[in-house]
Amino acid sequence: MISFSDLPLRDDLRGKSPYGAPQSPVPVALNVNENTHPIPDDVVADILQSVGTALKGANRYPDREFFELREALAGYLGHGLEASNIWAANGSNEVLQQILQAFGGPGRSALGFAPTYSMYPLLAAGTGTGWIAADREPDFVVTPDHAAAAVLEHRPDVVILCAPNNPTGTPLELDVVEAVYDVTDGIVVVDEAYQEFMPEAAPSALTLLPGRERLIVSRTMSKAFAFAGVRLGYLAADPAVADALRLVRLPYHLSVLTQAAAVAALRHSGEMLATVHDIVVQRDRIASRLAELGFAVHDSGSNFVLFGGVDDPHAMFLALKERGILVRDVGIPHHLRVSAGTEAETTVFLDAMAELTAAPASATTASTATSLN
Ligand code: PMP
Repeated sequence: MISFSDLPLRDDLRGKSPYGAPQSPVPVALNVNENTHPIPDDVVADILQSVGTALKGANRYPDREFFELREALAGYLGHGLEASNIWAANGSNEVLQQILQAFGGPGRSALGFAPTYSMYPLLAAGTGTGWIAADREPDFVVTPDHAAAAVLEHRPDVVILCAPNNPTGTPLELDVVEAVYDVTDGIVVVDEAYQEFMPEAAPSALTLLPGRERLIVSRTMSKAFAFAGVRLGYLAADPAVADALRLVRLPYHLSVLTQAAAVAALRHSGEMLATVHDIVVQRDRIASRLAELGFAVHDSGSNFVLFGGVDDPHAMFLALKERGILVRDVGIPHHLRVSAGTEAETTVFLDAMAELTAAPASATTASTATSLN
């Protein structure tokens, strides 16, 4: 058996590891920030009907420009957006990849503020784009002056602002987006994968789109919308951006089934998003209980919580896994990240944390086991 490093791989991919959040079948999976609530039965029935109709025409290629879906997404976002402002792909990972294919690439660079979403450097690597990891200020905050200074120093072709940020949960003030946009001639992406979990009064970067033709706001149906398995991410921007991405997308990249399922789900956006409030309640419950247990909890505007003060994150990860609970060791020293689950899942997690905090010996024993993360 050879490994991929024995193959005539591109030099710039040598030594890199693929994205690899564990996918073990455990009773309480709180490791990849999914919405753990199932899709309501009536919505499933309606989606199935639409998918069935689409399947009858699946002998033909799908609508390459997925016009109906773009209209539905524009209607969902509001803010006066139209189908021409919208682009979509198989998850926002693919949207981001297409952005880097079109606006990054060999000889170009993209900048983000680390620690941030682990796929950004991988997408940069895959598209031959240089990756620049600027730092954050205390408690993982990014301020306008700090961000503008980093962009002026490195002059990247693409800036990716994660709002709220994964894996820290940190919200991002819109004046950071304005400050960055004003000091670059490049593309500014605001990744709002978790925006629906922010307080309702918090404005989205969508409000900044008018007059800013290099600004892109990326969203996904994977999180609040509970549609991670279908793979549908999208963006809002000037119509010229959507036009540019047609240069790099594969023809017919969104299948008829994906298009039909997403359009049908968007007809039920109220019901699909009904769990957001419950998830926010569980997130806040996790934050206050973990603080009571003595952990350093970071402010979160998303559906997960990053907490510090963990003596040995890997040992605690394994001790939780032994109890059927999966969380994420995101590589920040003494920290772990947990997604807010249903009330019952959250209770299982918090009870386990209370138990492990009371009896750290079991966590220490587990530290000798092999890494699973
Ligand atoms: N952006 C951020 C910040 C994320 O955390 C994720 C998923 N974890 C994505 C984008 C990609 O999500 P998807 O491809 O499922 O839309």
